[in-house]
Amino acid sequence: MKKKPVRSALPKRVDAIIIGGGLIGCSTAWYLAKQGLDVLVFEKCHTVGYEQSSRNWGFVRQLGRDPKELPLMMLANGIWQGLEKDLGADLGWQQGGVLGMTDDSSIIPDFEQWCDVARSFDLECSLKTGEQVAELIPGMARQWAGGIFVPGDGNADADITTAAFARAVTNRGGRIETDCAVLDIELQGGVAGGSVCGVVSEHGTVSAPVVIVAAGAWASRVLSWLDLDMPQMRIRGSVARSMPVAPITPVAAWTPSIGFVQRKDGCFNIGGLDITDHDVSLESLHYARYFFKDLIKHHHKIRLQFGHPFLNDLIGRLPGSRAMGDPLRRARIGNAMPNSRRILKCFEDFHDLFPATNETALKKAWAGHIDVTPDMLPVIDGQAGPRGLLVAAGFSGHGFGIGPAAGQMIAQLVHGENPAVDLAAFSLARFASGNWQSAYNLI
Ligand SMILES: Cc1cc2nc3c(=O)[nH]c(=O)nc-3n(C[C@H](O)[C@H](O)[C@H](O)COP(=O)(O)OP(=O)(O)OC[C@H]3O[C@@H](n4cnc5c(N)ncnc54)[C@H](O)[C@@H]3O)c2cc1C
Repeated sequence: MKKKPVRSALPKRVDAIIIGGGLIGCSTAWYLAKQGLDVLVFEKCHTVGYEQSSRNWGFVRQLGRDPKELPLMMLANGIWQGLEKDLGADLGWQQGGVLGMTDDSSIIPDFEQWCDVARSFDLECSLKTGEQVAELIPGMARQWAGGIFVPGDGNADADITTAAFARAVTNRGGRIETDCAVLDIELQGGVAGGSVCGVVSEHGTVSAPVVIVAAGAWASRVLSWLDLDMPQMRIRGSVARSMPVAPITPVAAWTPSIGFVQRKDGCFNIGGLDITDHDVSLESLHYARYFFKDLIKHHHKIRLQFGHPFLNDLIGRLPGSRAMGDPLRRARIGNAMPNSRRILKCFEDFHDLFPATNETALKKAWAGHIDVTPDMLPVIDGQAGPRGLLVAAGFSGHGFGIGPAAGQMIAQLVHGENPAVDLAAFSLARFASGNWQSAYNLI
């Protein structure tokens, strides 16, 4: 039997603790470590990025963003362009642009409107006719009514990016503790008016004046330890990867039914866009009031699944259950299972669109739980609760692209600097105060 490596003792005290070793946690740690801070990242899975950050499509997309989020995403795009050099790693980065296509000409005015938004931020964006779309991505068997294109957008390899950040963190003297969940946040002087002073983890207690919650889909559970409320819902996205094919396009694109991107290794990542699954949990029922309007509006696109996560949640709360009150025992790792019907359907749609790939087989399929907030904007907040607590979560399917900028913003907040981008729209308090709007949806 393979022996488990001996875990070295945790430090007693560090400058900053990060709960969650996804892209957001690792990029934040990197910026802090670069500034000379002694950082410690806790990750409950066996490896960093195991939940959302390694399971996404790899789009680094400004196209279609909520105007409130666009400046942050534009900052991120700039960082991505130099990131391989900064981290000293091949991230599979390609800047081939992102294209949205439609066969419904009544949507073109929405595209035009978003082009105006882009121009107001000095972002290059253009409308494409059906013919121009066909020129941009050759080999498609379908004609489109038109499209919208941001040439500066890109894509990268989600399988390797978070690990590259984590390596850069340890090279700078930071520490990443995998297989180690944080169980509680310690306070001095209570939630109101007090300050954080460290965390209790599965392998010991560590003190720190700064604790950053970058716990992805678990953020609302972590924040509930401090009686802070963060409405979140988990959407299950299923993704297919094809075997490699000869280069077709460096443009990452979406149609009404699928999104696709050809990676540098020639494989396509393909995801279905027409229907997504929501695995109902007790948490989602708790926050249903925030999502109700959008669930009704998009009822034709969302399938509620009362499956394993719901049963698990229910059983865990039964009196006498060993796992009662301990979500980490009930479901420690968010290893979502792909919906095989949707995988087959999106792979079929892909073959229909590119008949030349008809013989190309499926290489693998996977799924991930996307943590969504009611307005599909993240929480990036240094004043969400007690002093020293920062929150960076709820990236709503956009966090791979935004990740590097989010890390930079959090590092600036830790240093008491004015962040380069206005973060007012990303406060946690917006939900309690009702100061938020329904999600901005171009897609
Ligand atoms: C199928 C799919 C497709 C997507 N496509 C795109 C895309 O094309 N472009 C894009 O920009 N974004 C995309 N996203 C979204 C993007 O992947 C996420 O927004 C981003 O990865 C979020 O990063 P994160 O670090 O916040 O969360 P995560 O990667 O989920 O990391 C959070 C980590 O915190 C850990 N954790 C939680 N609680 C604890 C605890 N108590 N103790 C220790 N560790 C804890 C978890 O184990 C987890 O590893 C997609 C997501 C999915 C699932």
